[in-house]
Amino acid sequence: MSTVAFIGLGNMGLPMAINLLHKGYNVRAFDLVADAVAAVAAKGATACHSAVDAATGADVVVSMLPAGKHTRALYLGDSDSEGLLQTVAEDTLLIDCSTIDAATAKEVSLSAEDKGFDFVDAPVSGGTSGATAGTLTFICGGNVAAVERAKPILSAMGSNIFHAGGPGSGQLAKICNNMLLSVLMVGTSEALSMGIDNGLDPKVLSDIMKVSSGGNWALEKYNPCPGVMPEVPASKGYQGGFMVDLMVKDLGLSQETALKSLSSTPMGALARALFVAHARNGNGRRDFSSIFEQFCNKKA
Ligand code: NAD
Repeated sequence: MSTVAFIGLGNMGLPMAINLLHKGYNVRAFDLVADAVAAVAAKGATACHSAVDAATGADVVVSMLPAGKHTRALYLGDSDSEGLLQTVAEDTLLIDCSTIDAATAKEVSLSAEDKGFDFVDAPVSGGTSGATAGTLTFICGGNVAAVERAKPILSAMGSNIFHAGGPGSGQLAKICNNMLLSVLMVGTSEALSMGIDNGLDPKVLSDIMKVSSGGNWALEKYNPCPGVMPEVPASKGYQGGFMVDLMVKDLGLSQETALKSLSSTPMGALARALFVAHARNGNGRRDFSSIFEQFCNKKA
C-alpha cells in the first residue's frame, strides 16, 4: 500500500488521516501543533518533524491547511523554508484538500505541472462528521490524468468525487457551495428563532421543516439550535466543527470571485457581513452554526 504524507491535522485533517490508516495506507504526518501529530501517531501514523520530513519517501502528499498562503508556502516555499516542489521525489502525486482562492490553487498547480508533478486541488464538503465517517465529497480541479490518479486515495476518505474542470476549478465550485451553505445556515437560524419566540418546540419545528419545502443540509445534518441534534457542534457549546473565521475566509473568496465576474450575489454579501460581525464579537474560533446566537432570544 502506498505511503501518504499528511500535512495539517486540524478538525478535518486528523479524521481524514485516520481514515487513510484504517484503509491500510502508511501515513507520515505533520502539523505545527505537536498534540495533533501525537493524536494521529497514536493511531499508527509516523510522527514527522516538518512537512519536508513527512513528504520524504511518500508516494502522495495530502494537505489540509487553513488558507491559500499556507498552501502556497507548503508547495512553493517562503523565506523560512523550501517548498515541497523542490524536495519531493519525482512522480509524487500532490493533492491539496484545503479551501483556498482559485488563483493560488492555479498558480501552485501550474508550478507543479512545470516540474512534472501531478497536482489536484480537491477541497471537500461534508464537515467534520463527513471527515470522521469517511463520506466527504471531493470537488477536484486539475488535468484528467491527475484526478484519475488521485481517486483511490480520495475514495479512502470520501464517497463522492467530482471533477469540476482544470486547475483551480475545484476551489471555484467549493466557494459557490460554501456561499450557499452560509445563506442556508443564517436562514435556518432565523426561522428556528422566530418559531421559538412564538412558542414552538425547536425539535418539532425542525422535524416539520426538514421534510417540507424549507428542508436543507443545516436542518438535516447540522441543526444550529442547541439540544435538537445530540452530535453536532451546537449541542457541544459550538466547539469543533467549522470555525467562523474559516467561513469568513470563504465568504471573502466568494465575494472577490463575484466582483471579478460581475456576478450578483446579494445574499452572499449579506451573509458575509453577518459572519464578519459575529467574528468581531469574539466568535471567530467557534463553529459557524453559532450564528444562531445572533438571532435567538437568550433570555427565553
Ligand atoms: P483547522 O484550523 O482545525 O486545521 C488546520 C490545521 O493546519 C491546524 O491544525 C494547523 O496547526 C495546521 N497548519 C497550519 N499551517 C500549517 C503548516 N504550515 N504546516 C503544517 N500544519 C499547519 O481547520 P479545519 O477545520 O481542519 O479546515 C482545514 C481546511 O478545510 C480549511 O481550508 C477549511 O476551510 C476547509 N474545510 C473545513 C471544514 C470543516 O467543517 N471544518 C469543511 C470543509 C472544508
